Amino acid sequence: MSDCLFCKIIAGEIPSNRVYEDDLVFAFRDIAPQAPTHILVVPKAHLDSCNAVTADNSQVVAHIFEVIPAIAKAEGLEGGYRVVSNCGADAGQTVQHLHFHILGGKPLALEMA
Ligand code: 5GP
Ligand code: ZN
Repeated sequence: MSDCLFCKIIAGEIPSNRVYEDDLVFAFRDIAPQAPTHILVVPKAHLDSCNAVTADNSQVVAHIFEVIPAIAKAEGLEGGYRVVSNCGADAGQTVQHLHFHILGGKPLALEMA
């Protein structure tokens, strides 16, 4: 998608602090971290959100959930971490490219609202 921020980051058109990359997935540090470790994991192929996941493309989501524990281990998140994907306006999704936040590095508050 030509006008998508995360597609531009994946393409290297906008700089990012990359922590992991393979054929399917790109992961980079969030520009406004909400925890000591805050990483975004995204599919390289553009999908708008969780709502765009189908039987035809869900392999990439499975792959992302294989990559996430490896990133967490490399980041030293032995104490645990949270994975979040905001879907739509009510959830506060601000970038319309499917992404999974990895948050950790301290005990996290439990409130969801
Ligand atoms: P959302 O609110 O859509 O779930 O998450 C979008 C995330 O992207 C936010 O946490 C925000 O800080 C992050 N973000 C927005 N613009 C940029 C950017 O240009 N670079 C990086 N690294 N993160 C960004
Ligand atoms: Zn995109």
